[in-house]
Amino acid sequence: MQRTNKVLLIYTGGTIGMGMNPKTGALEPLDFNHLVENLPEFEQISTDIDTYQFVPVIDSSDMNPAFWGKLVSIIATKYEKYDGFVILHGTDTMSYTASALSYMFENLTKPIILTGSQLPIGQLRTDGKENLMTSIELASSYYPNGRPIVPEVAIYFSGHLLRGNRSTKQNAEEFNAFNSFNYPHLCEAGVKFKFNTHNILTPDYDLPMSPHTTLDNNVIILSLFPGIKEGIFDHILDLPCLHGIVMRSYGSGNAPQQPWLIKLFKKATARGVTIVNISQCISGQVEMSRYDTGYQLKDAGVISGYDSTVEAALTKLMFLYATCTDTETIRAYMNKSIAGEITIP
Ligand code: ASP
Repeated sequence: MQRTNKVLLIYTGGTIGMGMNPKTGALEPLDFNHLVENLPEFEQISTDIDTYQFVPVIDSSDMNPAFWGKLVSIIATKYEKYDGFVILHGTDTMSYTASALSYMFENLTKPIILTGSQLPIGQLRTDGKENLMTSIELASSYYPNGRPIVPEVAIYFSGHLLRGNRSTKQNAEEFNAFNSFNYPHLCEAGVKFKFNTHNILTPDYDLPMSPHTTLDNNVIILSLFPGIKEGIFDHILDLPCLHGIVMRSYGSGNAPQQPWLIKLFKKATARGVTIVNISQCISGQVEMSRYDTGYQLKDAGVISGYDSTVEAALTKLMFLYATCTDTETIRAYMNKSIAGEITIP
């Protein structure tokens, strides 16, 4: 068969890569270097596929910034050779990885599609085969002018293509595991692909792709809740190594009005900690001027995360603290979209 585009398939681990051991009947990680033998369907697709397997493969609950750095290095060294990249990844932290990669590949001009599955690829009712085959097709979808249709980091799952840094895992049991509550889907993959082209990023093809491999993980996610205690909060906010906080507030960005809380926020922001306000609601955006409670936060130096996901805000803080030298620049970038992660009204 005449092969067309070239895709690098990277296997990091997760449920998708499991197969049944014919002797024991147990599920165990497949050897993706022999993928074609395990998946005869591969013979039928027109894309040329090379595979790269991490050793050892990991459950995505063990994902970390060093691993993201390795992923970036692997793709960066092979960037010119391939038209697109597919990363097989466990679903649990896939949105964190997709968000982190969206910043780490500056001026990305090729598709990087992450996918996984809820049932192992070796099981009869698996969703893994469709997710994998469609991701490969999406990663190798090009316009006749030679430009990719999806030149960004995206997650494909259960018929939907989502911007990676807008995605969140929404369901632990159903096949439809991901959604992007504050951003339209990039493509619906039914019988045909329906691309929402005007919602897909358009990179500057004249700029060279610039990979970043380090992140600063001196960050934390803090959720507000009724009954939050001053002593505990003070202890965390006072940690000398702390650089960034994603604060999960109520509703449109509200917090309790206790003076001690505002005082602690003021103290932390004054010493250079960046506190980003993200709503605990999965949909909608933070509007800190709407209620007095939000206003006080603004006054204490807390910045709005607008409609960002927690995953996107946290990894953006990690990226900016590793890349920028001063807090003012970091805060300015937090209020700008750098990879389509946020909508500024
Ligand atoms: N625990 C697995 C992981 O995230 C679940 C999955 O793959 O869906 O690696």
